[in-house]
Amino acid sequence: MEGEKMKCEIIPERCIACGLCQTIAPEIFDYTDEGLVLFVGEPGATHEFVPEAQQAVVIESAKRCPSHAILYQDSL
Ligand code: SF4
Repeated sequence: MEGEKMKCEIIPERCIACGLCQTIAPEIFDYTDEGLVLFVGEPGATHEFVPEAQQAVVIESAKRCPSHAILYQDSL
């Protein structure tokens, strides 16, 4: 996936506010006051293109999210 943009989707309705994704990818994921996932750069968005340098941690977050609230290009 060198040089390609990867698309990420978050589904806050599925999020159980566990905090894991923000620990794994703090430059991408943050939380609402209720602890539900949002994008650091676009708090109102549910889709974002992920810079190449962050793609590995976004994929790890998606795979480890206990409620499957994070999707990325290959799983969309
Ligand atoms: S890992 Fe999943 S359930 Fe946990 S805070 Fe992130 S999106 Fe929500």
